[in-house]
Amino acid sequence: MSDHKPETKAIRIQHERSQEREHSVPLYLTSSFMFDDAEHMRATFAEETDDNIYSRFSNPNAQELVEKMCALEGTEAGHATASGMSAVFASFLAFLKSGDHLLSCSSVFGSTHTVITKYLPRWGITHSYADANKPETWEALIQKNTKMIFVETPSNPGLDIIDLEWLGRLAKKHSVLLNVDNCFATPALQQPAKFGADIVTHSATKFIDGQGRVLGGLVLGKKELIREVYLLCRSTGPALSPFNAWVLSKSIETLFVRMERHSENALKLASMLQHHPKLQNVRYPLLLSHPQFDIAKKQMRMGGGIVTFEVKGGLEQGRRFLDALQMCSLTANLGDTRTIATHPASTTHAKLSEQERSAVGITPGLIRISVGLENIIDIAADIEQALEKST
Ligand SMILES: *Cc1c(COP(=O)(O)O)cnc(C)c1O
Repeated sequence: MSDHKPETKAIRIQHERSQEREHSVPLYLTSSFMFDDAEHMRATFAEETDDNIYSRFSNPNAQELVEKMCALEGTEAGHATASGMSAVFASFLAFLKSGDHLLSCSSVFGSTHTVITKYLPRWGITHSYADANKPETWEALIQKNTKMIFVETPSNPGLDIIDLEWLGRLAKKHSVLLNVDNCFATPALQQPAKFGADIVTHSATKFIDGQGRVLGGLVLGKKELIREVYLLCRSTGPALSPFNAWVLSKSIETLFVRMERHSENALKLASMLQHHPKLQNVRYPLLLSHPQFDIAKKQMRMGGGIVTFEVKGGLEQGRRFLDALQMCSLTANLGDTRTIATHPASTTHAKLSEQERSAVGITPGLIRISVGLENIIDIAADIEQALEKST
């Protein structure tokens, strides 16, 4: 199995078959697991066996999902959580304590920003935000008590790209943990651990599910680090439901095919829209006009499924555009088979101040398109007609 290609591993890694010899792995919908006798129970609690005890700790469906994600990300170990945010939160709490400092980047997901700025300070954990567009300023922001660097690349929704090879070296030089949220790229397009990321976090809700059905998250990395995450989660309880784990693990079988089509459709859409007279700042990692195009090209296999743009005229024009869409869905999710349009300023990033939003490149009229798997002709036609009507 270990010399199989990633596309094959995504399909062929499977939890051991039961005596029924099922082809597709069954759903282990059980809260707890049985022991043969008192000695087996004692030994399992003492971690002398790796048998399951209780689904808050581990479950075969979650283990299968973790095993696949580790194979794809190139990490030793992992732990599955109930959502992307519980994965991000656990990846902070497992390693940061009162007095520590976190270096992050202003372009992070809205809820991650809230955790960093509102909740971490309650436990005496401070932070600095670096500017994704000014890598030369990052090193000076590392303090004596900096324990972790946390970034998203590409970022949500700004699509900023951070040079992972450079950041991996910087983190190593200062003995700081590098934690990368790989939600937008997925391991099908980018593997942060290859560039020195110690921890890779995921919202599996997005492209890993890929069909907008269930929530889930993952924390992946070196064995000794994931042990800390596991112990924290085992006691605090953000366990992934076996059902969601089962759905997510099945979804990974089609991850590569989906990411390739998402990326093809998104590149076509971005190329078509980039000179549209009613739009400005059309952004996509693999458009030549993207300021970090060279870095994206270096570290990503393809550009991913997200395109952003501003409808000229700002907020009002942007809202009219959304109202004029006939096929694309207005919904909060992304990474779905269906093309989704959102307005970050009034939704995912509404809790930020106007000033904070503009610092992360979220202008009032910014539209985020999660390009789905429909025929690109239909996606483009819907966006074209909505632009036509909105002005
Ligand atoms: C959605 C998202 C999250 C949070 O994931 P949930 O599964 O919704 O909790 C974290 N990071 C990024 C980049 C996201 O897009």
